[in-house]
Amino acid sequence: MATSVPSPPPPPPPPPERSGAERSIASWLDLGRSLALILALVAGVIFLASLVFLVRAAIFGYFGGAIGAVYWLLTAIVMFLLWKEFPKFEDLAARRQYGELKDRLLLWIVLGILFFLIEGIVLLLVFLKADDVRAASEGGPPAAAASPAPLPPPVPPPPPPVGVRCPTCGQPAALIAEYNRYYCYRCNAYV
Ligand SMILES: [Zn+2]
Repeated sequence: MATSVPSPPPPPPPPPERSGAERSIASWLDLGRSLALILALVAGVIFLASLVFLVRAAIFGYFGGAIGAVYWLLTAIVMFLLWKEFPKFEDLAARRQYGELKDRLLLWIVLGILFFLIEGIVLLLVFLKADDVRAASEGGPPAAAASPAPLPPPVPPPPPPVGVRCPTCGQPAALIAEYNRYYCYRCNAYV
C-alpha cells in the first residue's frame, strides 16, 4: 500500500506583519472618521442656530447672517460626505494601496482645512504617514532632506535550525526557501 505522495502545491506567502506606521494610519483614520461625524453634527447645529438668527434678521431687514448660515450648512454637508468616505479610506489602507489613499485624501484635506481645520490636520497626518509607509515599501526615493534619521537596514533573521516540527501537530515542517519560513502542510500554516 505504498502510495507515492504527490509534492504538495506551494503554500501561499505568509501574511506580512503590519508595521507601527501602518497601525498608526489605521488609528488616525479611525479618529478622523469619528471626528468627521461629530463635526458634521456640530456644524449642523450651528447652521440651525444661525438659521434662527437669519430668520430673525430677515424680519428686521438684515441679511448679513446669510453668509454664516450657508457656511455652516456647507460644513455640515462636507463633514457628512467625508464621514461616508472613510470606509473607502480604511479599505485602501487595509489593502496597502497607499498611493491611491493619498490621491483620495488630497481633496478632503483641502476641504477639511477650509471647513474644519482640525479634520484637515487629521487627514494630513494620515496622508504624511501613508507617504512614509509607501516610500519605505518602495525601497524609498532619496528623501534625505525629509528624514534626518535614516533607519538601519533590516537585519535578516538567522536561519532556523534543521528539523523544525509543527508546534500544533508535531509533523516535520517544510522549509519554504522563498520566504525563509517553515510551513506545515498538514495544518496549512506557517509555524
Ligand atoms: Zn501541523
